Formats: sequence, C-alpha cells, structure tokens
Amino acid sequence: MAAVPLRRPLDAETVVVPVGQVFVIPERCKGCRFCIEFCPEQVLVESDRMNAKGYRYPVVADGKERACVNCGFCRLICPEFAIYTEEIR
Ligand code: SF4
Ligand code: SF4
Repeated sequence: MAAVPLRRPLDAETVVVPVGQVFVIPERCKGCRFCIEFCPEQVLVESDRMNAKGYRYPVVADGKERACVNCGFCRLICPEFAIYTEEIR
C-alpha cells in the first residue's frame, strides 16, 4: 500500500508555534483525566502524588516541558477549572 503523504499548511514555514507553560491547581482536580487524554501534544501525565481528596492530578510529563503549544484545550475541557496555561514565547 502506498504511503499517505503528510499534509502541511501552506504557511508552515512562517508561522511561529507558541510555547505554553502549564499551571495546575491540584486541590481543584477530581482526577477525570480529560486534560491528559485530550491534549493534542500529550504533554500531561498523572502525578504520582494525590491531592487531599485522593485524586491524582496532572503534571507535565518528563521531557515535555517545552511541548505545550498553548492551545488552551485543557483549560476549556477541565470541569473544575483546575488547569490553565500561559504563553511563554
Ligand atoms: S494548552 Fe493544549 S498543548 Fe498545552 S497542555 Fe493544554 S491541551 Fe496540551
Ligand atoms: S481535566 Fe481538570 S479535573 Fe480533570 S484531571 Fe485534568 S485538571 Fe483534573
């Protein structure tokens, strides 16, 4: 079977992809994992630690410190307003 060519936007060479910094408010998190599952860049993983309610909150995965593209999807999808990002570039 022939390989499917990757589609690239016509302005891919000129667009600067933003970098975001992730902020999590652990005590608000209920461990639903929405932000982890739906992040398009797989930036987040479940923490080894639990908050006071016993939920494992998200943290940035090792090696993904510069991988967030500040799309804001985690902030939008979080039902507890427990995560947000800020552009750092
Ligand atoms: S802003 Fe987008 S890329 Fe960054 S952690 Fe949230 S969902 Fe992932
Ligand atoms: S979407 Fe919000 S409540 Fe769910 S795991 Fe992520 S930070 Fe926690």
